[in-house]
Amino acid sequence: MPTGLVMRSTGSRYVVRAADGTLHTCVAKGNLRIKGWKSTNPVAVGDRVEFQPAAQHVGNELVGAITELHDRTNYIVRRSVNLSHHKHVLAANLDQALLLVTLARPRTSYGFIDRFLVTAEAYRVPSIVVFNKVDSYTEEELDLLAEYEDTYRSAGYRTVITSAVKGIGIEEVKALLAGKVTLVAGHSGVGKSTLINAIAPDLELPTFEVSEASEKGQHTTTYAEMFELNGIPGRGPVAPTFIIDTPGIKGFGLVDMRPEEIVDQFPEMFRLKNDCRFNDCRHMNEPGCAVKAAVEDGRIAESRYVSYCDMVNGVDDENPYRID
Ligand code: GDP
Ligand code: ZN
Repeated sequence: MPTGLVMRSTGSRYVVRAADGTLHTCVAKGNLRIKGWKSTNPVAVGDRVEFQPAAQHVGNELVGAITELHDRTNYIVRRSVNLSHHKHVLAANLDQALLLVTLARPRTSYGFIDRFLVTAEAYRVPSIVVFNKVDSYTEEELDLLAEYEDTYRSAGYRTVITSAVKGIGIEEVKALLAGKVTLVAGHSGVGKSTLINAIAPDLELPTFEVSEASEKGQHTTTYAEMFELNGIPGRGPVAPTFIIDTPGIKGFGLVDMRPEEIVDQFPEMFRLKNDCRFNDCRHMNEPGCAVKAAVEDGRIAESRYVSYCDMVNGVDDENPYRID
């Protein structure tokens, strides 16, 4: 039985990529479940599966059958729309996430970036922060860019500066993607499709003017889709390069974290927490707090600390990120 990679899901059909690169439309066998797993969709983009090509007829269509689901190394879930107890797994087995951010037109807030990064940390997905539209910034916006860059570099994240339209930073992004499965995320209008097209022109993703962008999310599907980037060789035939596009999805569901776990997802704070005087320090008003001391002398960015406090206090930045 060949092993395949799920590239796309439309609810009842899955597109599975075989090891030789061929694509097979498949249905899922009735009782596919990962033990102890409550989910609205048993199979997600990025899943590794066993499948039987051209196994059965559904109507006039000859389709393959997914017969087995491999364990996931990690996964992300969609932000829950209703408070159901079922997760919708957006994507599985990610090597990394690329968060595309712009400082203007539209401005991505610190709060949005930090919530994304915290969630990705909690899911054990390493993140890269890419600042796009650098060609269009004013002097002031460039100063702000330097500030953002400094904030995320000193927190321990890899950052890249790009202009998807002018071709700046594209080679650097390609090198970071090579041979990996990367989730591409960001507000609509930041240039995700434009960047992906600059990296892989053969994909021809539709792009939208910013004015249309606000409507865009409401009409597009909330399914993630994986694309193979043929132009990026990867690391030999066994590790081609894939990106996962998540159209219409602003953020993914925050995993259920207790306040004391949230600090662990801020790498620069996590490193210091054993230096606090109290081992149950919440890094708010306690004396002898190493995290607060680092914020005060500038080793930790104020904006990151504000995001931490907002998350602990349950303040939502712009999205109702609730747990599933
Ligand atoms: P998406 O919603 O994130 O997929 O964004 P799109 O790729 O559809 O781009 C939204 C708008 O931003 C389009 O008008 C693009 O032409 C524009 N855009 C994308 N990248 C850049 C860039 O690097 N510089 C400038 N000036 N505009 C860009
Ligand atoms: Zn503390």
